[in-house]
Amino acid sequence: MATELGPGLTRAHGAESIGALRGPRPQIPAPVEDLLATLRRGGQAAYVVGGCLRDALLGREPADWDLTTDARPERVQALFPRSIYENRFGTVVVRHDEAQYEITAFRRDASYSDFRHPDSVEFGDSIEQDLARRDFTVNAMAWGGRPGEEAAFVDPHGGRDDLARRLLRAVGDPDERFGEDALRMARAVRLAASLEFEIEPETLAAIGRNAELARSLSGERICAELLKLLAARRPSVGLTLMADSGLLAVIAPDLARQRGLSQNKIGGEDLWDHTLRTVDATPDRQVVRLAALLHDVGKPDTLADGHFHGHEAVGARMARDFLAGLHATRVLQERVAHLVFHHMFAYESNWSDAAVRRFIRKVGPSAVHDLLALRAADNVGSGLPADSGNLPELALRIDAQLAASVVLGRGQLAVDGDDLMAELGLPQGRLLGRLLDDLTERVVAEPELNDRAILLDLARQQMSDRRLSENPNS
Ligand code: ATP
Ligand code: MG
Repeated sequence: MATELGPGLTRAHGAESIGALRGPRPQIPAPVEDLLATLRRGGQAAYVVGGCLRDALLGREPADWDLTTDARPERVQALFPRSIYENRFGTVVVRHDEAQYEITAFRRDASYSDFRHPDSVEFGDSIEQDLARRDFTVNAMAWGGRPGEEAAFVDPHGGRDDLARRLLRAVGDPDERFGEDALRMARAVRLAASLEFEIEPETLAAIGRNAELARSLSGERICAELLKLLAARRPSVGLTLMADSGLLAVIAPDLARQRGLSQNKIGGEDLWDHTLRTVDATPDRQVVRLAALLHDVGKPDTLADGHFHGHEAVGARMARDFLAGLHATRVLQERVAHLVFHHMFAYESNWSDAAVRRFIRKVGPSAVHDLLALRAADNVGSGLPADSGNLPELALRIDAQLAASVVLGRGQLAVDGDDLMAELGLPQGRLLGRLLDDLTERVVAEPELNDRAILLDLARQQMSDRRLSENPNS
């Protein structure tokens, strides 16, 4: 079996340390094997490399398969007619078997503001050089070989050992590597959460020393990592690492301020603990996870006399600003802020059906179930059963209303603005809008009023009431 191992591996680690993950070959899908074979038949060295190899060895489905080669982009294009090379970074995108693969020429260290889009690209000559510029040992392995060679692992940094120990360890000197690219610190905490790995102590200590460098990162890059972190089975793993290492204070100072703020919820736990529990209790929906992370962000600022008065409105603004700073999409900013704003609703079983409809109208039919999911998680975060506050009953009542296709907005009224203008001779404008809103509210309360003749009568009535109240002597 020693012959199957890459030369770098035996040099760096000796065959005696071969663990369970040192099987003879990783599971690589047939189309990827085809690409490797085509490159190698064409006289090129070719490897599967990075996160996809890590995931394959862990038995996780890789998000995408990346290849690296000694061939320059022009040569890769010559070997693969169905390919595109439209960036300056050495990556050719190849279509094969209904999927896309990235084949990147070996690179060497260069300065970069973004690993995928380095400031300057320098091609490298060897797989070892290419692996040395990667972030963590488990991401710095390759499988493949030069033409004619039997395919083998190239693992000069002991990635498979660290994979077996479930450890994220920087390649080389961690302070240097974080100094080159501060995003690697965010990647470390995100990968720790999504892989459920620990960060090796030296690497973790270096994050603590270099956390300030994250200030220079673009919002987009932080946002991408934060969203991946939140998609982990237990996001609290990554969030706790962020808080303990000082990254949180740099990236999300308003959340870092939740630490040490007491809450009368679970004994001995602070507001940050409550946030962590809440996030972990959410279903894996991006908008709900973000809302859980941010739902109490307004509390530190609103604390007065042991109460957090109006924290949901303050928090909604802060959540929107935070996400805007990360250049999250406008839709995501609004949806998260909306959930934060409404998260303090108090349902009672004695609500009438009309009250349930008003609630749906206020929150919006598309957001209402996310809001209930957030509230259930907030319950768990507070040490209560998920269903306290009669949430399941409210969910059923909401579904019943939605199933009955009741009127929840102007769009479903039996009259529209044109009808009111034609029948009542009203001009377009604010008054017309207000009239439509009033009618909608009436119909939300009493669905049987949604009839064209009835609504026109109601509108006429309302207009004459208005004239009377404006001009009582006429
Ligand atoms: P994911 O599961 O999210 O795809 P990944 O580790 O594969 O995680 P990618 O962004 O797909 O992340 O990057 C592919 C590989 O490129 C990594 O495994 C790593 O080898 C390398 N890499 C990515 N970003 C960096 C970086 N900032 N610094 C050094 N190497 C990086
Ligand atoms: Mg990847």
